[in-house]
Amino acid sequence: MINDADIEQANLEALGNHEARLKKQGKCTHGWRQGPDKDGLTKCLDCGKVATDEELEEERAELLM
Ligand SMILES: [Zn+2]
Repeated sequence: MINDADIEQANLEALGNHEARLKKQGKCTHGWRQGPDKDGLTKCLDCGKVATDEELEEERAELLM
C-alpha cells in the first residue's frame, strides 16, 4: 500500500537525485541559502552567489523544470 507520505518521500528523493546530478555538472540550484540581509540580498552557501531571493529562485526553477 502506498500512502501520501511515501509519495512525498519519493518525490523528495527524486528531487535530491536531480539536484545532485546538476551539481556534478557545475550547476547550482541554490538550495542552501542565507538571508536576505539588510540590503535584501540572499547568499547561496553552495556556490557563493549573492542576489535577490527572487533571482535565486528563478535560476532554481529553470534548472528544476
Ligand atoms: Zn548556488
